[in-house]
Amino acid sequence: MSLILAIDQGTTSTRAIAFELNDKGALSPVAVSQIELAQHFPASGWVEHDAAEIWTAVVQTCREVIRKAGGVGRFAAVGITNQRETSVIWDAATGEPLHRAIVWQDRRTADVAARLAAAGHEAAVQAATGLILDPYFSATKYAWLLDAVPGARDRAGRGEVKLGTIESWLVWKLTGGARHVTDATNASRTSLMDLETLNWRDDLCALFDVPRAALPEIAGCAGEMGRCDPALFGRDLPIAGSAGDQQAALVGHGALKAGEAKITYGTGAFLVANVGDRPVASKSRLLGTLGFSLESAPKPGRIAYALEGSIFSAGSAIQWLRDGARLISESRQSEALAQSLPDNGGVYLVPAFTGLGAPWWDPEARGTITGLTRDSGPAHFVRAALESLAYQTRDLLDALAADGAPPLKTLKVDGGVTANAFAMQFVADICGLAVERPAFQEMTALGAARLAALGGGLIDDLESRATDAPAVWAPAMSDDRRETLHQGWRRAVKAAIIAAQQNG
Ligand code: ADP
Repeated sequence: MSLILAIDQGTTSTRAIAFELNDKGALSPVAVSQIELAQHFPASGWVEHDAAEIWTAVVQTCREVIRKAGGVGRFAAVGITNQRETSVIWDAATGEPLHRAIVWQDRRTADVAARLAAAGHEAAVQAATGLILDPYFSATKYAWLLDAVPGARDRAGRGEVKLGTIESWLVWKLTGGARHVTDATNASRTSLMDLETLNWRDDLCALFDVPRAALPEIAGCAGEMGRCDPALFGRDLPIAGSAGDQQAALVGHGALKAGEAKITYGTGAFLVANVGDRPVASKSRLLGTLGFSLESAPKPGRIAYALEGSIFSAGSAIQWLRDGARLISESRQSEALAQSLPDNGGVYLVPAFTGLGAPWWDPEARGTITGLTRDSGPAHFVRAALESLAYQTRDLLDALAADGAPPLKTLKVDGGVTANAFAMQFVADICGLAVERPAFQEMTALGAARLAALGGGLIDDLESRATDAPAVWAPAMSDDRRETLHQGWRRAVKAAIIAAQQNG
């Protein structure tokens, strides 16, 4: 029996999960280990992680999982998935980080992105990479790091200083410094990779001021990226799969064909829709990105492009009900309270606590409640917060449709909020789509394991082989009602945006 070691390096924690591959090609978890990750906030809008702490946590969690699962001899391959865009700089000779990693949420390079946009570069960057100009992506973070560390820019040009996203840092460390490589999904989040050719572009490296010599080689998502230093775990296990977290979840869900999509409802929510083997240029401010690239796979299914949209506040709206408004003491109480009402009573909550994401992209918008009457009470606030998840999802799906993406038949969901059956039914109703939640929820780690199993030659394709039936919510609302409710939501969003303009 073969085991796969999946490393899931996330924003708030590092986890290792051992998956067992059965003779039907299905993967099931047999051991897990997790360590929380310290967050550093050195200035307003700045967020950093210690890359050395991340590395130590990876070694510790992997060792623990290997031990729990019966020893390294049972393992066949390693897969990696990671928080995307977070940028690391390290010394090639010592293998030590030269600065704390800049985390994806960090806004310190907002002025650089704004300056490039004002100079008229956005259309060309978007055409080449699929991405808008925003400090979210790695390129401006890399340039900042090269300028902040004395001598780094010169040394980077000579290959003495390395740059990479988290999976690239981990492969470097796991291979004892033998391999400086990134997978193409992570590379697609830097603003430096051409989305069609999957190569770094010299013009973008020049525009963002990042020397190509400091960047990793770009590899596919399945196949040997390197082998672990035997001193680490006792064997030279191959690193055979890698993808950024949202892309790994797409694979974990088995959303492998055009018209299949997943949304992860955690603190925020991330929709990734597979659009097929050609990139789709978004006119609706969704992000064009890579779903996965499998260099050795047969032609159909070798590459999948995706459109992505993020909702900034999903589960965080429920956290606000609990910790800010104090209307509930536990997240799960929200379900019964929402269901105590026959409808929303005309009350809408736009949870723009930190601005609005796709397709509105309004960083100045703030949370707004509309439609209060003398009859409105705590349950209305709770219901409106849960309903907002569905309306925000609908806005993303409308943007997808406007971009000409293939229509969806079902929406595959995962994440903490999917425990809420009221919210999931309401998503199905407002989106007019069946919502499907797999029995096993760790889609990100599962995707990394599946890519590693494919890359290690243990399975022949990425097809989902889930053994337990998913939970399914079918849409049950009339078209009229759906449109009336959605119009009410759009009026509320407009109010939030107009209020921000008037305040600003
Ligand atoms: P993350 O990976 O972003 O930390 P999780 O996938 O662990 O997020 O989901 C946590 C979120 O799910 C929290 O914001 C929490 O408020 C929300 N949540 C958990 N249970 C429920 C529930 N029963 N109803 C609504 N929201 C819930």
